[in-house]
Amino acid sequence: MGLRIHNTYSGMVEEFIPSGQKKDKIGDYPPVTIYSCGPTVYGYAHIGNFRTFIFNDLLRRYLKFRGYRVDHAMNITDVDDKTINGSLSEGLSLRDYTDRYIKIFFEDLDSLNIEKAEHTPRATESIDEMVDIIRRLDEKGIVYTKDGSQYFSISKFENYGRLSRLDSREIKTGLRYDTDEYEKDDVRDFVLWKAAKENEPSWDTPYGAGRPGWHIECSAMVRGVFGGTIDIHTGGVDLIFPHHENEIAQSEGAYGEPFVRYWIHVEHLLVDGAKMSKSKGNFYTLRDLLDKGYSPRAIRYLLIASHYRKQLNFTLEGLRTAENALARIDNFLVRLGDIKKEGEADPAVKTLSDEFNEHFTEIMDDDLNVSGGIGAFFEYLHSLNSLIDEGRMSLAAAARVKEALQRVDSVFGFIFFSGTEDDIDVTRIESLIAQRQEARKAKDFARADEIRDILIAEGIFLEDTRDGVRWKVKK
Ligand code: AMP
Ligand code: ZN
Repeated sequence: MGLRIHNTYSGMVEEFIPSGQKKDKIGDYPPVTIYSCGPTVYGYAHIGNFRTFIFNDLLRRYLKFRGYRVDHAMNITDVDDKTINGSLSEGLSLRDYTDRYIKIFFEDLDSLNIEKAEHTPRATESIDEMVDIIRRLDEKGIVYTKDGSQYFSISKFENYGRLSRLDSREIKTGLRYDTDEYEKDDVRDFVLWKAAKENEPSWDTPYGAGRPGWHIECSAMVRGVFGGTIDIHTGGVDLIFPHHENEIAQSEGAYGEPFVRYWIHVEHLLVDGAKMSKSKGNFYTLRDLLDKGYSPRAIRYLLIASHYRKQLNFTLEGLRTAENALARIDNFLVRLGDIKKEGEADPAVKTLSDEFNEHFTEIMDDDLNVSGGIGAFFEYLHSLNSLIDEGRMSLAAAARVKEALQRVDSVFGFIFFSGTEDDIDVTRIESLIAQRQEARKAKDFARADEIRDILIAEGIFLEDTRDGVRWKVKK
């Protein structure tokens, strides 16, 4: 059985067939086309946003692990109410203002070891594609004008509501409707093109001077990058309605062909049971956590380690648990690096590695069950540690293990996490280690653990060996 993915559109876990045509071999498929709704660049992204972006990273990495090629676009929303208001209040051009946050966003992606998408289109550079969509919808009579703005008339699009399966009563009475609106005929309708307002940036088009509605930006960028139907569209669950519902209405209304084969939605990162969001003020940015001494590697681990269709409650305690899990990996890597034994590899190492690879693939194929995959990985480490204990790990075997680890890390991205050894105060670390030894001798284990945790939080990992305590930096 191959990869299966939950498709919001059908509400079911489905066999994954890119391009809609089944092939004998994975290598025969054309590149998997993926579009992910990207950040609105008006400030620092919070780690709730990064949960979704790290999931996108897991998805593309796992597809490559399975032998697919990927062609991935993540857009940048660089024009909307928030970016415009931010630029106005700072007296900067929209471009200068959004450039600043785009740069920060890409730095954050880098810190979290998130691979770059092949395309990162900006909304403000996709105006022609938006006009093309509006013109096609207009020709079909789906658009109306009010006070110089263009609206999509929901009543003219039969399939509206199919993705979100919202009760049509809810949509009709406006219990759930689009807030991205000016005046409109029907509360369900949404704006495609907003008439220019004084002081706001605007673009001249056959539909008048103005700026795009939010939803049309993504429909236009999907078209601009990929042309036709794409395989996968991702975003957080908050985007299912109205954003993605409206993207489908615009794209399918304009081009008369299916928009997306698989819709994948990531559950929220919560804080005390509520969605982490800027508007609630209950958020941490990546930099907030780095300033508190947590490593980007632990943040990646925490955010990637739960299944994407389960909500994840964020706590600092959770981050400390992540640091401990990573310390187990590092201790193993130290042991592996210490192997000196010559001679052939014990066949048990190959068997274990092959079994792990097979088991990991089987688990991940089931709708990217990453928590199961990580569980299998720790079992594998446990068995390898036993082989080391028994003196059965030779240099040749260790090299084979390292290859297996590199392969699985092409998916996880948290095993061999690049770190720097700059700015490390060796004297202080060794003094802390000496204090910890003293504390242990005095049976003050609470203090000993406390010192260990301080060091872990700084990316310093300890290993107790027969020759004393060794330490290693891992960010
Ligand atoms: P935005 O910059 O607000 O447009 O959001 C960027 C991405 O982050 C979207 O895919 C959102 O659905 C997602 N997102 C926003 N808040 C959260 C959260 N608390 N947990 C997970 N994903 C989120
Ligand atoms: Zn979008």
